[in-house]
Amino acid sequence: MAKKCRVRKKNGKRCEADAQHGKPVCVFHDPSKVAEGTRARRAGGINRNRSAAVLPRETADIPLRNTQEVSGLLGESINQLRRGQLDPRVANAVGYLASILLGALQQGPLEDRLSRLETTLGIGGNTPKERAAHVNTTIPGSN
Ligand SMILES: [Zn+2]
Repeated sequence: MAKKCRVRKKNGKRCEADAQHGKPVCVFHDPSKVAEGTRARRAGGINRNRSAAVLPRETADIPLRNTQEVSGLLGESINQLRRGQLDPRVANAVGYLASILLGALQQGPLEDRLSRLETTLGIGGNTPKERAAHVNTTIPGSN
């Protein structure tokens, strides 16, 4: 008899599908076969309302204060996805949000550098509007 898929559904019951040969999960829970699984479910009409695989509620927050920590989250999520612990849709959302966060984290240091540069050049203002006005009109050597 074939081994059963090791995945537990959200309701605590085990997935009843047979595991694939040489893999611990069935075709429906294999992240690399999500598209095929979707087709197979559609064809067979099985388990249409499968909920997304997510991490347990008690999973600790990952600090996301700098690009290294965000990279850490991405690395961890990629491995969870590969192990089938994270639904590809969740991993997709994590990737999307992480890329926004990376952009925001990189913006901060850039603004600091710009403001130091402006101070050095003596063109800094206190508000972005003031800064913009200075930058547009009084860049040394521009006229
Ligand atoms: Zn399964």
